[in-house]
Amino acid sequence: MMKDVIIIGGGPAGLSAGIYAARAALDTLLLERAMTGGLAASTEHIENYPGFPEGSGGPELMSRMEAQARRFGMEITTGNVEQIIKEEKAFTVKTEDGDYQTRTVILATGAYPRLLHVKGEQDFLGRGVSFCATCDGAFFRDKKVAVIGGGDAAVEEAMFLTRFAARVYIVHRRDQLRATRIVQQRAFKNEKIEFVWNNVVEEIIGRDKVEGVMLTNVQSGEKQRLDVDGVFVYIGYQPNSALVAGLAEVDERGYVITDENMATSCPGLFAAGDVRKKSLRQVVTAVADGAVAAVAAGKFIEEA
Ligand code: NAP
Repeated sequence: MMKDVIIIGGGPAGLSAGIYAARAALDTLLLERAMTGGLAASTEHIENYPGFPEGSGGPELMSRMEAQARRFGMEITTGNVEQIIKEEKAFTVKTEDGDYQTRTVILATGAYPRLLHVKGEQDFLGRGVSFCATCDGAFFRDKKVAVIGGGDAAVEEAMFLTRFAARVYIVHRRDQLRATRIVQQRAFKNEKIEFVWNNVVEEIIGRDKVEGVMLTNVQSGEKQRLDVDGVFVYIGYQPNSALVAGLAEVDERGYVITDENMATSCPGLFAAGDVRKKSLRQVVTAVADGAVAAVAAGKFIEEA
C-alpha cells in the first residue's frame, strides 16, 4: 500500500516529523534500524530543551516524543533501509525485509561519531575505547580516563565521567575549547578534570585492554605517554547521508542541502535534523526541522 510519508530515522527530527505528519492525518511510517531516540537518547541529561527547567533525561524525552507520535497514529517498523529509489510520482524504499511505496520521504538519519583512525582504536573498542560515556562511564569507577575533543560533547561527557572516574583528562588539539562558554566554565571549575592542550592521540596502547595513549604535542613535537584505563572519543560527527547519494545534493562534508522547507534537490524528498546542512545541531532544531519537513511533505502531496 502506498504511504503518504516514510520517515527514515527515529531520533528527535524523525519523531517530531511523525507527530506533525500523523496528526495531519497523513499515512505515516517511521523506519528505524535499531532503537528510537537517536543520539539524544544516549545523552544522559538534556538541559537546554525548552519547557524543562530542571532538564530531562535524554531517553525519557525521546520516549515521550515516540509516545506522542504513536498517539496520533504513526507506525514504527524496525528496518534497515538499503536504498531509496525515485519513481515518477513516488518512491520505493528498499529494506532488508521488503519494499515500501511512498509519496514522500523524510530523511532523518542523523550523524555518527567520527573516529580518530589511530592504531588501537578498533582493537580496544569495548575494552576501554568508547564513544558513549552514558553507556560505559560506570565501568570506570575510580579509574583514569581520557576524553578526546574540545567541543560541547567532549566537555559535557567529561563532566559526566567525573561522577565515576578519579581523573578525567581532556585531550584537545588546540589550546582553546570549542565548547560553549557556560560548559567551559563548569569544566574549568571541576577539580577532577585536567586539560592536556595542544596534543593529539597517536596510538591507543595496552595488552588486553586500554592501558594508555601515546600523545604528540602539535607545537613542540614532544611525545608523551598518558596512563589511562579508558578513552572516550568525542571529535564530532559525520552525516548518515549515503542513502541519498546521487539522488539529492550534499555539501563537501556530506550534509544534505535543503531549502527552508527542508526540501532537498529531489522533489518529494525532505531532510531534517543532524543529517542536514545547518548551523546548529541540537534537539530543539531537530524537532523544528521535523515539523517543517512534515508540513512541507503534506503540501507536496496536496499539490502533486
Ligand atoms: P564539534 O563541536 O564539531 O567539536 C569537535 C571537537 O573535536 C572540536 O574541538 C575539534 O577540534 C575536535 N576534533 C575534530 N577532529 C579531530 C581529530 N581528528 N583529532 C582531534 N580532535 C578533533 O562536535 P561535538 O562536540 O560533537 O558537537 C557537535 C554538535 O552538537 C555541536 O553543534 C554542539 O554544539 C552540539 N552539542 C551540543 C551540546 C549542548 O548544547 N549541550 C552537547 C553536545 C553536542 P577543533 O576545536 O580544533 O576543531
